[in-house]
Amino acid sequence: MSQDIRVPDIGDFDSVEIIEVLVAAGDQVDAETALLVLESDKATMEVPSPYGGTLSEVLVAVGDKVGQGDLIARIERAADDKPAASDAQSPTQPSPEPAMQQSAESDCDVVVLGAGPGGYSAAFRAADLGLRVILVERYPVLGGVCLNVGCIPSKALLHTAHVIDQAKSLAKHGVQFGEPELDIDKLRGFKQSVVDKLTGGLQGLAKQRKVEVVHGDAAFSSPHSLSVQTQDGQREIRFAHAIVAAGSRSVVLPNLPADDDRLIDSTGALELKDVPQRMLVIGGGIIGLEMANVYAVLGSAVDVVELSDTLVPGADRDLIKPLHKHMKTILSNIWLKTKVSQVESADDGLKVSFEGDQAPQPQSYDRVLLAVGRRPNGDLINAEKAGLGVDERGFISVDRQMRTNVPHIFAIGDIVGQPMLAHKASYQGKVAAEVIAGHKTAFDAHCIPSVVYTDPEVAWVGLTEQQAKDQGIAYDKGQFPWAANGRSLGMDYQDGVTKLLFDQQSGRLLGGGAVGPNAGELVAEMGLGIEFGADAHDIGLTIHAHPTLSESVGMAAEAAAGTLTDLYIPKKNNKS
Ligand code: NAD
Repeated sequence: MSQDIRVPDIGDFDSVEIIEVLVAAGDQVDAETALLVLESDKATMEVPSPYGGTLSEVLVAVGDKVGQGDLIARIERAADDKPAASDAQSPTQPSPEPAMQQSAESDCDVVVLGAGPGGYSAAFRAADLGLRVILVERYPVLGGVCLNVGCIPSKALLHTAHVIDQAKSLAKHGVQFGEPELDIDKLRGFKQSVVDKLTGGLQGLAKQRKVEVVHGDAAFSSPHSLSVQTQDGQREIRFAHAIVAAGSRSVVLPNLPADDDRLIDSTGALELKDVPQRMLVIGGGIIGLEMANVYAVLGSAVDVVELSDTLVPGADRDLIKPLHKHMKTILSNIWLKTKVSQVESADDGLKVSFEGDQAPQPQSYDRVLLAVGRRPNGDLINAEKAGLGVDERGFISVDRQMRTNVPHIFAIGDIVGQPMLAHKASYQGKVAAEVIAGHKTAFDAHCIPSVVYTDPEVAWVGLTEQQAKDQGIAYDKGQFPWAANGRSLGMDYQDGVTKLLFDQQSGRLLGGGAVGPNAGELVAEMGLGIEFGADAHDIGLTIHAHPTLSESVGMAAEAAAGTLTDLYIPKKNNKS
């Protein structure tokens, strides 16, 4: 049986150049064998054969320009040939057998529930591997909490706060600016423009990959179907595989006023409706401090109340100390070992009472931000209808392949456990997609970096020193103070520290951290060192550019190796 082969739907391109013809008349090909390579100004893509058989004619040549529907070749199909399940994008990947076998009765090979960094990465990777993907998102835009009301808008506002702070600090260098004049609408507009660029980009990426996006609230209706409440009514999606990437939400404390819009969470804080005169931040963790930093620099009098005896309890205290020191200069009060016992609504403010070691008298605030952690959304998706196990806190357990107790359902990101970080979610999303496509993949990352984007930044990766002590792990420490780093001094910052922890037996890097401007960028090298099993000599003998902040990583390694010359370290530590 002779069959025409035409250019499939290749997205928004109508005249794309052929840069390679990979077959000739007479060649035998399988379904999915690549026939041509096309190149647009945006991408290079292969065109696979939709059928298996013998090519009777190849009708195009290198340099020809083609668009969707153009005739490329003719094929005599093999008697037992079945058409290929996927088209242009990913013929080079292994055939995704497990999904394909079940997809006949399904609307898709994979449905992804939630379009945050975990969900969209999973969906895009699955599509790149040739799977038919539906991505379901309850909000009208893609990107989830991180892009819309989390990591990205907060970083845009923190940048503004940082520049204001820096401009002020120039006075002592002899450069005087006036008081900043705030146009809050314009600032909000800038923040939104950053968000819109990224979320709009995601929409385009989904379209290019032919990922169908369905907007609406989704919940399982059976082990193989999701029910989505869309604007146009209920839609049932039958799937062969599912990836649950439904994220988390802010924890709400009991006994708080229910309907007072002066009590906000991080989403409310990032709306930046105004700059309140007095603001209380409950929770001195990552969200609390980032938002406290923004509002304090914009002009609010901000208090922070924190239950434990330190800010950011998960980080090493030596790294938090410089942050605490700077925060004290921009915040009105930091109360540790203290909690809020009551919040009452009154006409002139929220009346807050405190309990604990440093509890002040009751105070009145124009705004109270609740930032005491996030809880997973496992309780919101009718998991029981799919037979999916969800624990009492809302987490879903998964194995190293991100597989839940239901073998064809996977889960990733905040909903599977701590740390609740976008970069962990996207990594796991790719693992889940690859496993579904039949790859032998597992989550085997040795470390996940954490960054607090305050002024100064605090960042760490791998084992913390506190964890090493708690777990009785013997380590050698290399540390370098930024007071001896020329680049940092040029930035008028002396309080920074970079430290690395090495396993005493194997010598391998176990963890590291830094505090100071751009500390978040420095942990990337440490993470790579941990993954590669680097020791102090590997890092110390890597030439770091001078003068940079990253030099402090090399010098911390030299300090551990005993080869550091930029500081004098007494003999007992000098090993070579
Ligand atoms: P968190 O766990 O980082 O901090 C919550 C803080 O609230 C803790 O310090 C805790 O001791 C304190 N707390 C708890 N109950 C309290 C109470 N009753 N009174 C006073 N303090 C109390 O949580 P978060 O800051 O809400 O962030 C939530 C999640 O989002 C975290 O997992 C975080 O990793 C993630 N996140 C990451 C980033 C980033 O990577 N930069 C930014 C924002 C959020």
